[in-house]
Amino acid sequence: MFRATVLTLFPEMFPGPLGLSLAGDALSRGVWTLEPRQIREHGLGRHRAVDDTPAGGGPGMVMRADVLAAAIDAAAPNDDPRPRLLMSPRGAPLTQARARALAQGPGAIILCARFEGVDERIIDARALEEISIGDFVLSGGEIAALALIDACVRLIPGVMGEEASGVEESFEAGLLEYPHYTRPRDFEGRDIPDVLLSGDHARIAKWRQEQALALTRARRPDLLAPQTGDASRRR
Ligand code: SAH
Repeated sequence: MFRATVLTLFPEMFPGPLGLSLAGDALSRGVWTLEPRQIREHGLGRHRAVDDTPAGGGPGMVMRADVLAAAIDAAAPNDDPRPRLLMSPRGAPLTQARARALAQGPGAIILCARFEGVDERIIDARALEEISIGDFVLSGGEIAALALIDACVRLIPGVMGEEASGVEESFEAGLLEYPHYTRPRDFEGRDIPDVLLSGDHARIAKWRQEQALALTRARRPDLLAPQTGDASRRR
């Protein structure tokens, strides 16, 4: 069973959108679980402080390693088999392959930072894997965690309506997905491509494959380039 534990200063952001639609239905059926935990419960002093000024000076505040360690240790004992993830713009970009691997595992412990981020020492001390959802900066890790969990949960068997709909999608075959059409047949003078109305399933499959390849070549040639180690994936 996929169990997500989220460490955050804003537990009220969860389940949020994950309480609706496919993920929400699966959550209420007990197909996966979500446990948001308030980091501030491990804060220091009367004000339950979780952050402090950066060593060396500079703007903003840094989340304290001792507070985060206490929060992580309370949420997950040492023998918890789940990977510990830190949402971070410096992390490895999230991929469909990583989401699928996580979905097949026991879940994840996900740390959402705020302010300037975390004291560097917590990353090594608690073996955190940094994951980014893209080359832009959010104000906190919560939206990134929601995106990560959503990508995983929809891949858990029994969550998506049609089992097959997970395997033909963008990235699953290393390509972007082919274009879709539905009724009406004529939309403002624009037709559905004839081949899709031909009933010839072999021709349709071939057309879709060609479209996927052409789209990928035009928009994401990096996906087609031979994978020569990490550098080519890191973009
Ligand atoms: N000073 C940091 C940014 C801090 S943003 C830097 O320049 O790298 C505050 C927090 O939001 C981060 O610590 C992280 O937990 C989260 N966050 C921001 N952008 C993110 C992204 N693209 N992917 C995942 N998490 C992100």
